[in-house]
Amino acid sequence: MKFSGFKVVKEALTGHKGWTQLWRSPEPKPAYDIVIVGGGGHGLATAYYLAKVYGELSIAVLEKGWIGSGNAGRNTTIIRSNYLLPGNQPFYEFSMKLWENLEQDTNFNSMVSQRSILNLIHSDGQRDAYRRRGNAMMLSDAGAKLLSRDDVKHMVPFLNFDNARFPIKGGLMQTRAGTARHDGVVWGYARGADQRGVDIIQNCEVTGFKIEDGKVLGVETSRGFIGAKKVGVSVAGSSGRVMEKAGMRLPIESHALQAFVSEGLKPTIPGVITFGAGHFYVSQSDKGGLVFGGDIDGYNSYAQRGNLPVVEDVLEGGMALMPMIGRARLLRAWGGLVDMSMDGSPIIDKTGIEGLYFNGAWNYGGFKATPAAGYTFAHLLATDTPHETATAFRFDRFNRGYVIDEKGVGAQPNLH
Ligand SMILES: Cc1cc2nc3c(=O)[nH]c(=O)nc-3n(C[C@H](O)[C@H](O)[C@H](O)COP(=O)(O)OP(=O)(O)OC[C@H]3O[C@@H](n4cnc5c(N)ncnc54)[C@H](O)[C@@H]3O)c2cc1C
Repeated sequence: MKFSGFKVVKEALTGHKGWTQLWRSPEPKPAYDIVIVGGGGHGLATAYYLAKVYGELSIAVLEKGWIGSGNAGRNTTIIRSNYLLPGNQPFYEFSMKLWENLEQDTNFNSMVSQRSILNLIHSDGQRDAYRRRGNAMMLSDAGAKLLSRDDVKHMVPFLNFDNARFPIKGGLMQTRAGTARHDGVVWGYARGADQRGVDIIQNCEVTGFKIEDGKVLGVETSRGFIGAKKVGVSVAGSSGRVMEKAGMRLPIESHALQAFVSEGLKPTIPGVITFGAGHFYVSQSDKGGLVFGGDIDGYNSYAQRGNLPVVEDVLEGGMALMPMIGRARLLRAWGGLVDMSMDGSPIIDKTGIEGLYFNGAWNYGGFKATPAAGYTFAHLLATDTPHETATAFRFDRFNRGYVIDEKGVGAQPNLH
């Protein structure tokens, strides 16, 4: 089934009887060439690009719950490529270019909306840092604009410009950034992968790995053993728990990150806005709700729910930036499990076990990486070499001391 304007009109006129299921629910086969563990955006994108770009024919995605039940369906949907360091920026710009063509590529409406991101500046030192970041963005073709206080005031006059502690002095803007409908991204990749023969197996938890003579032979699951020549693990916040079953201890801590949505309001916020003096970011959904978030919870956890002190902290950030938010009622809040690495940057690499590959450590920001993480992980699985935009995302950077510390805050997950 192909989606098109013509198809929508035809179905409207014929009683909507021609829509088919977006993906099958097959029984697991005894073995596959490649098994992907984790049916989030990254796992499904990996399967999609493995089949589409690298011509792999025997792939399964194993998901312990339903696809998109993890962070892929819980994030605040911000996509951007406004990084500074050479290890990161080309990768995120590659991702942005894939976002720009995603809906045509998958023939699915993932509501990719390039409505811009505005990072606010509150001090002269911060302006210098953002100018430097903007230059790095322009070098990688990502585009950047440095805005004055008046430019920002013209655009979003309702912000608290004269806050005595955090006056707004300008902003760094990327107009190509924005938001995408997170579950629409999952469904688009799932449908595209399924159409290319990938078996998406839900309610199938990986409980162990079969490893002999340093080589992976398959995975133990809640639905029995499934053999595999290669296994790619892409389980985000569950990375520590899953890789432990292969005897690996990762440089990752799992924390809860919370998201919040207000009642629906009239259109107010044009794009994504981030507060530069605290951890608070906000956008407005197409239904009108203000979608916002802030810091991770301050303790390690595998629970997909957050705690009250961070709720208070996030809302204080919101009130400092735009006091009018205090008039809106909070409609919903939830938590997801983020995999925080010790330098705030991701890992896409082989492991010491032959045939076992790992994609994770996405911290606060793996949604925007979904297309490129899928593409580059597929590249690694298919060719055994890192993709040119992901060469820095190796485990051994922690041994060699070549960390990619984008924020310059060291091994402190709460500050990344
Ligand atoms: C509240 C919140 C807000 C965020 N906001 C943003 C944002 O605005 N922009 C941005 O870029 N990023 C954001 N992120 C981060 C982003 O969502 C994640 O980094 C990204 O989604 C991780 O990749 P994924 O989609 O594959 O993860 P997930 O969707 O979590 O996929 C992992 C899957 O693995 C499955 N799994 C776990 N264990 C097993 C097992 N043993 N067997 C089988 N399956 C298993 C899980 O059920 C899950 O479905 C946010 C995260 C949260 C929680």
